[in-house]
Amino acid sequence: MRLFPMFFLAAWAACPQTPETPLQSLPYSPSLDPASMDLTVNACQDLYHYACGGWLKSNPIPPDQSSWSVYAKAAQDNERFLWGILQDTAKPGTSRSAVEREIGDFFAACMDEGAAAKAGLTPLARELSAIGALRSAADLPEFLARQHLAMDFGMLFSFSSNQDFADSSRQIAFAGAGGLGLPDRDYYTKTDAKSEEIRKRYVAHVARMLELAGDPLPRAGAQARAIMGIETALAKASLTRVEQRDPYKLFHKMDRAGLQALTPALDWNRYLDAAGLGGLNEYNVTEPAFFREVQNLLVSTPIGDWKAYLRWHLVHARAAYLSPPFVDANFEFFGKYLRGTPQMQPRWKRCVRYVDQNLGEALGQVFVERTFTQDMKARTLTMTQEIEKAMENEIKQLPWMGDATKQQALVKLHAVVNKIGYPDKWRDYSSIRIDRGDFAGNIYRARVFEGRRQLAKIGKPVDRGEWGMTPPTVNAYYDPQMNDINFPAGVLQPPLFDPRMDDAPNYGNTGGTIGHELTHGFDDEGRQFDAHGNLHDWWTAADAKEFQARADCVANQYAQYTVVDDIKINSRLTMGEDVADLGGELLAYLAWKNVTRGTELKSIGGLTPEQRFFVGFAQWACGDERAASKRVHAITDPHSPPEYRINGVAANMPEFRAAFGCKVGQPMVRENPCRVW
Ligand SMILES: [Zn+2]
Repeated sequence: MRLFPMFFLAAWAACPQTPETPLQSLPYSPSLDPASMDLTVNACQDLYHYACGGWLKSNPIPPDQSSWSVYAKAAQDNERFLWGILQDTAKPGTSRSAVEREIGDFFAACMDEGAAAKAGLTPLARELSAIGALRSAADLPEFLARQHLAMDFGMLFSFSSNQDFADSSRQIAFAGAGGLGLPDRDYYTKTDAKSEEIRKRYVAHVARMLELAGDPLPRAGAQARAIMGIETALAKASLTRVEQRDPYKLFHKMDRAGLQALTPALDWNRYLDAAGLGGLNEYNVTEPAFFREVQNLLVSTPIGDWKAYLRWHLVHARAAYLSPPFVDANFEFFGKYLRGTPQMQPRWKRCVRYVDQNLGEALGQVFVERTFTQDMKARTLTMTQEIEKAMENEIKQLPWMGDATKQQALVKLHAVVNKIGYPDKWRDYSSIRIDRGDFAGNIYRARVFEGRRQLAKIGKPVDRGEWGMTPPTVNAYYDPQMNDINFPAGVLQPPLFDPRMDDAPNYGNTGGTIGHELTHGFDDEGRQFDAHGNLHDWWTAADAKEFQARADCVANQYAQYTVVDDIKINSRLTMGEDVADLGGELLAYLAWKNVTRGTELKSIGGLTPEQRFFVGFAQWACGDERAASKRVHAITDPHSPPEYRINGVAANMPEFRAAFGCKVGQPMVRENPCRVW
């Protein structure tokens, strides 16, 4: 994915800042904005600050954000626009369509903070009493199955469906690692002083939440330490994010007997019956070592500790939808402390996001109707096809790839499906009961709807038209098993794709995004899947070695860059994204040159066409992030920080050097540039 990961983390409450208002239409800002530049910076020294210096000065990080960027600002504009729609559709008694009633009532229930405050712990009462009734670890299966149906995979492990790595036409059950409260397993294993401090604060936070859930304080403290013990054992048995980038490490097919043998203390018959999957006999256990640790814990942990662990994860998963004390405590730790965000987001913003997360294709219909024209769809599809053409030419000419691999690469490229804007068929949410007076209940029912929808896929043909992002999302993705590239309407709007602007900045910006997603099919991870989306090696050994050497060049380059303090980029984690950034921008450049061949391109505002391409490129990424949030991303984010996503790419491109007349010896000219595609 091109963008930073979204954190759906919960907890924000109303805050006194500049009042924001709903937008009646999306504001316009150009895909190349001279005001965003800083002409006192030399592009050959630092393209990013040359193109973004002005933007950074006039766009400080808002108090309710952990980071801020052109993408984040566009996402917030979308949210304000959706806010207006939701305010209208929330009014009862008007002639609302069925879809408008769903999203309007969901939003109205969310905005009713008074009702949430009054409800207190009631939304958790049923689950808390179920936890109270557990007599031993043998009673866990039914409880876990019910929580997993609501997509709560902080409860010990995850269980859902996925395409079979070996045969992408089939959906099978996947059992995976889970069970943690901190954002990554590394938080539990790192030994530096900052990590020690985070763990101490985390244990205090867990105790605080247990206290809110009704446990007296001294006991809550002891329970929090026991919970930390369980999570630390699970973390140590979990693969690192770098290890997870190798699909072979996540592929262990088993039958029911194999699964049961892995965790004898967990009765899978009872679990699967409770999940409505009684007859199932085929599983991918992504991390068998993790489940062996689950077995160890099941036989060694007292039931009292399990009960505390389950209470904590119940409260943690639902905190954002409960009364203000839960929402506040959740924000205090995960927002303020861990990511350095001073203020919670106002309630409207959180509520818009919850509608998007839970009824995204209902809200998305209205968004698309009002923002995304057929002309924009046609133009961005053409651009996508031009970039695919550029990749085809590039593959044919690659000096380091042999003919046999090239042939397979072209088969894969031609099989890529382009999904632009929104799904052809909208998801039907009408079976979810939405109650204007029961916000937490609406969230729970919507999540169970989604959990059941995922499990119902098992054994059925794969729906190739399905989307993994909602239409208003300002982001894009490649799915290696679908072998498709997906660009929601939200990312094909100004200032990213700008119908009023000429090709140069549009190819630099959105063209680069399209190229980025396309090359993901051929990065160190994506290249292991074939044209059909199956995990199958179609490379000759010699060509795979040539590829790896080039990807290593990129990894060695990015390993030099600092994220914050003394933390460098973990370039084995970011390798796929860094390779996609570099390849994507090159393809965008080649495609732009191709579509404008024979046209006389003019300088505008003192910038040559080639310079405008690169300024347009850099301006997608203008942004800043709080130091604490940078520390989180250094561990969890497979993307490099924005300035390196620009400067690291441009410094490898002779086309950039030529555009600005940069000289060897200047920072933006690497002596031995990396190039993969
Ligand atoms: Zn990406």
